[in-house]
Amino acid sequence: MDAEIIIVGDEIVSGYTVDTNSAFIARQLETVGLTVKYKTAIGDVVERMEEVFRTALKRADVVITTGGLGPTDDDVTKKAIVKVFKRNLVFHEEILEDLRERYARRGIKMPAINQNQALLPQGATFFPNKNGSAVGICIAEQGRVFIALPGVPAEMQQIMTDEVGPYLKGLKAGQAVKVTSLHTTGIVESKLAEMITPQLKLPAGVRLAYLPAYSGVTLRVTGVGETDDDAADRVAPVLRYLESVCGSYIYGRDDDTLEAVVGQLLKDNDKTLAVAESCTGGGLGMRLTSVPGASAYFVGGVIAYSDDAKINRLAVEREVIDKYGAVSEECAQAMAAGCRKLFESDFALSITGIAGPEGGSEDKPVGTTYIGLASAHSNYARKLSLGRTREANRARAGYAALELLRRDILDIK
Ligand code: ATP
Ligand code: MG
Repeated sequence: MDAEIIIVGDEIVSGYTVDTNSAFIARQLETVGLTVKYKTAIGDVVERMEEVFRTALKRADVVITTGGLGPTDDDVTKKAIVKVFKRNLVFHEEILEDLRERYARRGIKMPAINQNQALLPQGATFFPNKNGSAVGICIAEQGRVFIALPGVPAEMQQIMTDEVGPYLKGLKAGQAVKVTSLHTTGIVESKLAEMITPQLKLPAGVRLAYLPAYSGVTLRVTGVGETDDDAADRVAPVLRYLESVCGSYIYGRDDDTLEAVVGQLLKDNDKTLAVAESCTGGGLGMRLTSVPGASAYFVGGVIAYSDDAKINRLAVEREVIDKYGAVSEECAQAMAAGCRKLFESDFALSITGIAGPEGGSEDKPVGTTYIGLASAHSNYARKLSLGRTREANRARAGYAALELLRRDILDIK
C-alpha cells in the first residue's frame, strides 16, 4: 500500500516554518508497512488543495494531510475536503461537548468561532485530539483512506501515534513490519558498505538502509512479514550478520544514543567523568547532561576557549602551547590531565580544534581537531581530520570524544 503526505500552510511553502510534520508521519507510516511515494506542500488556498487532494487520491491508498484545521478563516482544509468528496458538513455534538469541557477546564468561555470545529464532512469519522481543539478527520471509501490532521506538531504527533498508527495497522491486517536500527560510530558509510556488502544476503521482504548522521552511521533493517514474529524472524539473521561484521563499531540499537550508552558504561563501572572543551564550547557537556540521571557519573566541565584559560584553569603549560599550538596532541592530552585533576574524576575528556570557517593553516587546516583522554592509567590524544563546516565539526568532535571513552572503557583497540 502506498501513502502520500500533503502539508498545508502558507508559512511552510514560504519557508518561515520548517516542515517537520511530514518527516514524523513518514516514519510512523513505515512502521505500519506503508511506503510514502509523494510529499507535497501547498499554501492555504482551497482551489490548490482540491487539485492536490484529487491527484493524491488517484495514486495513493492512504493520503494524510496536516494543517489548516483550525477555527479561523485562514484554515480552509475542511472546505477543500468537502469539495473533493462532495459532502455536506454535519454537526457532531460529542466534539462540541469535548471542546466546551476543554475550555471550561482552563476557565475560559469557549469562543463561538470554535463551534465550526464540531462540523465534519458527512460520513467522516474522527480521531480525538488530546493536545488541542482540532480533531483528526478520516474518510475511508472505495479502498482509499483520506486523513486530515492539525498542523501543530504536538497535536499531530499525538493523534498519529495513538490513533492513526493503530488504525492503519488494523487496515493492513495480514502484514507486519519490524524495524531495527543498529547505530555505528567512528566509521564512514562507504567503509561500512565495503565490509557489509560482500557476504550480505537479504531475505525476501527485508531492506537495509545506511543513515549517516554526525554521531555515526545507522544501519536500519526493515522486514515485512505476515505476523510480527514472521517479520522479526526475517530480520534476525540480517542483524546477526551485521553485528558479526561491524562488531565494535556498533554501540547501540534503536533508541540508544552514544551519550546514554557511554553514561551507562560509566555507571556500570562506578566511574566519573569531567570534560575540558575548547572548540565545542560546552557542547559535549550539554550532550552528556541531556541524559536523565547523568549526575550519577558526570561531574562537570571547563570551557577553556582561550590559551590563557587552558593555562590558568587546566594547568596546561604555556610551553606546550608555544611549542605545539593550542590545537595539538600535546595540548589535548594536557587539557584532559588537568581537567581530571581539577575535578578529581576517574576520567576526563578534552577537545581542541579548528572548527572554522577561519583559522586554518597549511599544516592544520580547518577541521583539525584533537580529542584527549585521561584516566588513572593513561593519558593520550587522537587526531581527527573533520570537514569544513563549523557546526558539523563541533558536533562530530563531541561524538568522537564520547567514542574515545567508550573504546577505552571497553578496551576496544
Ligand atoms: P490549529 O487548530 O492550531 O489552528 P491547524 O490545523 O490550523 O491547527 P496550522 O494553523 O496549519 O494548524 O499550523 C499551526 C502551527 O503549527 C503553525 O503555526 C506552525 O508553526 C506549526 N506547523 C504547521 N504545519 C507544520 C509542519 N508541517 N511542520 C512543522 N510545524 C508545523
Ligand atoms: Mg491554524
